[in-house]
Amino acid sequence: MSRDISRKDWIEQRIKPDEYRKYLDQGQSFIDDKFLQRIVADDSQPDPLQVRDILQKSLEIESLTEEETAVLTRVQDPDLLATMEATALKVKKKVYDNRIVTFAPLYLNNICVNNCLYCGFRTANQQVDRKILSSRQIRDETRVLAGEIGHKRLIVVYGEAPETDIDYMEESIETIYSVKVPVRNGEGRIRRVNLNAPPLQKRELERLKTVGIGTYQVFQETYHAETYHRVHPGGTLKNDYLWRLYSMHRAYEAGVDDFGLGVLFGLYDWRYELLGLVSHARELEEKFGVGPHTISFPRLEPALGAKIVENSKYRLADSEFKRLITVLRLAVPYTGLIITARESAALRDQVIELGCTQADASTKLGIGGYSYDEAAQSKAKQQFIIGDTRSLDSLVRSLIKRGYIVSFCTAGYRCGRTGESIMKLLKTGKEGEYCKLNAVLTFREWLDDFASEETRVLGERLIQKEISRIKQQLPEIYSRFQEYYSKTVDGKRDLFL
Ligand code: SAM
Ligand code: SF4
Repeated sequence: MSRDISRKDWIEQRIKPDEYRKYLDQGQSFIDDKFLQRIVADDSQPDPLQVRDILQKSLEIESLTEEETAVLTRVQDPDLLATMEATALKVKKKVYDNRIVTFAPLYLNNICVNNCLYCGFRTANQQVDRKILSSRQIRDETRVLAGEIGHKRLIVVYGEAPETDIDYMEESIETIYSVKVPVRNGEGRIRRVNLNAPPLQKRELERLKTVGIGTYQVFQETYHAETYHRVHPGGTLKNDYLWRLYSMHRAYEAGVDDFGLGVLFGLYDWRYELLGLVSHARELEEKFGVGPHTISFPRLEPALGAKIVENSKYRLADSEFKRLITVLRLAVPYTGLIITARESAALRDQVIELGCTQADASTKLGIGGYSYDEAAQSKAKQQFIIGDTRSLDSLVRSLIKRGYIVSFCTAGYRCGRTGESIMKLLKTGKEGEYCKLNAVLTFREWLDDFASEETRVLGERLIQKEISRIKQQLPEIYSRFQEYYSKTVDGKRDLFL
C-alpha cells in the first residue's frame, strides 16, 4: 500500500494521460459518437435478405460491423426474430458446444474514492460500512469457495482506493492462489483469478501479469461520453472517460491479453451501448489481433442510496435484455458472454439458451460474505441485491437436466491458450475440441469432490454420453483422453490436454 503519500497525492498520480493519448486520432477515440447516433436513429425495417446475409456471417464466426449489428436490433418480424434466436444458439454451439463455465465473485473491499451515482460503494454514501479483507479473511473466504463449494475460478472485485492499490491487489491474488483445502479427493484450490478492477497503469498491469491473472475486466459503464461524465462526477478519477476506455490497450502492452469488456445497461440507450461494445471489440481486434475474451452486461440494480437507479429512463425491460444478448451473441460470435446472479434464476435459464456461456453461482456480495456471519450480507455491506441465490450444486443440477456440461476448466491461460492464439482456436472451433475434453475431466473432478449425490448421479449419466461423443468425433485424441479420464476417476487432479 502507498503509505508514504497522502490520499490526495495518490489520486493526483493515478492517471497517466500519455498512456492513452498516443492512441487517439486527432484527439478522437475509436468511439465515433456521431456515427453511432446516426445508425441508432435509423428505425427503418430491414430487408429480410439482408438480415439472412448478416446471420450467415455470424454463423461463419465473423464479427459484425456496427451497421450490421444495428440492423439486427431493428428486426420486428416474429419469424425473423425466431430465426435470429435460433442462429444465436447455433453460433454458441459451434464455438462453445454445450459447455457452461461457472465462477464466483469475491468482493475484497468496498472503499472507493469515486462517486459513481449508481453504486452503493461510492464515497459520498454515508450509510455503507466500509471494509477491506485482511490476508487472513481472504484465506477464510477462499477456503469456503475452493474447499466447500468447489469453485476453481474467481472474479475478484475491488473499489478504487489507496488502501487497496496495486500492492494490495497483488498480495490478495497471491493469497488466493496459495490456499489449498483438503477435499474428498486431494485438495481444492482456485486455479484462475480474474479481476474486475479500476483502470490500471501499464507498469501495474505488468505486475499482475507476473502474479498470473486470468481475464482483466474493466466495464466502460456507458460508451456515451456525455452520460459518462454526468454519472461519474467531475473531480473524481472515474470521470476520465478516455483513461477508462483505453484500459485494455494498456493491458495488451503489459502482456495481459485476456480482455473483459462490459456496459452497465440502464444508464443510456441500450442500442448505442451495444454498438459501443462492438466498436470496442473491433478496435481491439484491429489493433492487437485479439478481441474481448468476455463481455458482461449488468443491468442497473437498486443500490443503497442510489436514486439515479429508480429514476433512469433507460432501464432495460426483460424483452430488450434478451434481444441485447441475442444480438451480442451474433455480433461477437467468439466472445464469452457472462450472465450474473444479479438476474433472476428464471431469466438466467432463458438467456443461456440465447448465447450466454458463463454464470456465477453460490454468489455472496457482502464483504466477507462467504465465510462470515449473515451480517456481512446486510444491505449496508453489499453493492446491490442479487436475484439468483442458487447454490453451485443446484445450478449445476439444473444445467445437467438441460444437457449442459459444466466446465471447471482453467487450462486456457496456464497452457498459453489466451489472447491471439485462443482467438484463432475459438474462431475455427478448435478451442471447443480441447475445451470439451477438459470440461469433461474437470466436471468429473467436481462431481467426485463436491456434488450432492443427486447431482453426481445425473452428472455421471451426462458424462457417459459425452464420452461416447468424444470417441466418435475425436478418435485421434480419444486414447489420450481416456488415460487422463481414468486417472481423474482414480483421484488424480488437474489434468488437462
Ligand atoms: N471499482 C471498479 C470499477 O468501478 O471499475 C470495479 C468494481 S465495481 C464494484 C464493478 C462493477 O459493478 C462496475 O463496473 C459496475 O458496472 C457495476 N455496478 C456498480 N453499481 C451497480 C448497480 N447499482 N447495479 C448493477 N451493477 C453495478
Ligand atoms: Fe467505486 Fe467502482 Fe462503485 Fe464506482 S462502481 S463507486 S468506482 S466501486
